[in-house]
Amino acid sequence: MKNLVLVLSLAILSISCKSQSETAVFVNNAPVVQDHPKLVVGIVVDQMRYDYLTRFYNKYSEGGFKLLMNEGFNCKNNHYNYTPTYTGPGHASIYTGTTPKYHGVIANNWYDKALGKSVYCAGDDTVSSVGTKHDAGHMSPRRMLTTSFADENRLYTQMRGKTIGISMKDRGAVLPAGHTANAAYWFHGEDEGRWITSSFYRNELPEWVANFNASDAAESYLTTWNTLYDISTYTESGSDLNTFEGGFKGKETATFPYDLKALSKDNKGFDILKATAYGNNLTTDFAIAALDGEQLGQDEFTDVLTLSYSSTDYVGHNFGVNSKEVEDTYIRLDKDIERFIQALDAKVGKGQYTLFLTSDHGAVEVPSYLQSVDIPAGYVDNKARKEKLHAFMTKRFGASDLIESISNDQIFLNREKLALLNLDLETVQKQIVHEVITYPNIDKAYTATAMGSTSFTTGIEELVQNGFSQKRSGDVLIVNDPSYLSYSKTGSSHGSGLNYDTHVPLLFYGKGIAAGSTLQKTRIVDIAPTISALLGISFPNGAIGMPLEFVFDK
Ligand code: ZN
Ligand code: ZN
Ligand code: ZN
Repeated sequence: MKNLVLVLSLAILSISCKSQSETAVFVNNAPVVQDHPKLVVGIVVDQMRYDYLTRFYNKYSEGGFKLLMNEGFNCKNNHYNYTPTYTGPGHASIYTGTTPKYHGVIANNWYDKALGKSVYCAGDDTVSSVGTKHDAGHMSPRRMLTTSFADENRLYTQMRGKTIGISMKDRGAVLPAGHTANAAYWFHGEDEGRWITSSFYRNELPEWVANFNASDAAESYLTTWNTLYDISTYTESGSDLNTFEGGFKGKETATFPYDLKALSKDNKGFDILKATAYGNNLTTDFAIAALDGEQLGQDEFTDVLTLSYSSTDYVGHNFGVNSKEVEDTYIRLDKDIERFIQALDAKVGKGQYTLFLTSDHGAVEVPSYLQSVDIPAGYVDNKARKEKLHAFMTKRFGASDLIESISNDQIFLNREKLALLNLDLETVQKQIVHEVITYPNIDKAYTATAMGSTSFTTGIEELVQNGFSQKRSGDVLIVNDPSYLSYSKTGSSHGSGLNYDTHVPLLFYGKGIAAGSTLQKTRIVDIAPTISALLGISFPNGAIGMPLEFVFDK
């Protein structure tokens, strides 16, 4: 029957579209639309640089990252097309197919002009915690303004296809799952070590989550963290003992092994798991439990599981890109990916699901390490900058309180004060740009007016513009020198529009996906339209990306 449909559609095609040269494209899509995957799994590895695929390649097993690279499609030149490259915006952009300019998640926390205070991307005080006595459950996706492909799948299936979001970080679970998710679950550490949710989704934990929490799942990982293989074989990272790593409170050096049970007392109890490789193990255990608990991929309506591994980010922030701790975390995560794929094969069926893997941003090599090998890098003194700018505002305009907030390298002006002093907004913005561009390690500065009136199509200006929300962003936008950031002198961070932050893995695997690779540039916003095209559903309402046709099985 399927062949007959295909033959018929080919016949119709050859009559109606002969003048167009897109026959091949139509033929490829026809069978895909009729035969959806039972489950789409999106995996985000928080803070995963592209080169972690290649640097640790020889340490990976055959069934994890390597399987996705060799049997799936590897987009080797995949980038964020906006800045700032933070977790909240990253997760939102992957699933909505658009940038902060449209989905509105301009940072993890930002200064809300209307409320006059800082807000959190997934925070929502109108909902309550479910599964915890703490307020860690006050979360929802309401600050994200556009739909995700999971939302579109829900609409398309009359809410019969399910969506479940899972991550240790609340924003890593809440934003990808979208507005119509059946549930999103995240981890609350401290004294609890439990997976929780919010009343935005449901009023109590389902039985399978309650059972998981009642087991010793989290407790069992409060053990010793040592390298999986002999540390002398970890030749792809720097020495374990160096001055570029943070480490845990209560332990003198940032060196293996780590006694997590003992260290947990000084490191917020169960929260210590987040900053170890074991946080990813626990996340995988929970995701596998969700496959059964939520019966994902078991009927004809496509379900969506969004899974985000957070520990990679915490370990990167603590120990840095070049640490043994990061290497061990990826070697162990590879085993988790393998274990999870095996669970999908067993429970959903090989060839019955489609999976993609990417990251929410990369990370910079520890700037103090870069300095030690003579690469330009360093640390921004935000306090000194602020004082200098306030002095300038007082001298130039007679009012330092014209500045309402400086956050995420953006300067927010007080509109009421400007009006009171009869000052022109654009003029003040421009004068601040001329002032701050003279400050150390500020490479570029733009006015919000320029961002709103000019269309940039290349370079860092385009990235800044794609990250700029006319409604939510500040009045002056600052770009620091490469590898300069406001951070401690140990560990790595992220946020810039440079390649170390924008270049992340993008792997597709499973139903409807070809084996192959490309060095053609792809953008993070192409992922959601690609999945939408695969499912034959509407694109997310704000999507600006393009389906990556070459990843589809011919
Ligand atoms: Zn992140
Ligand atoms: Zn170390
Ligand atoms: Zn981070």
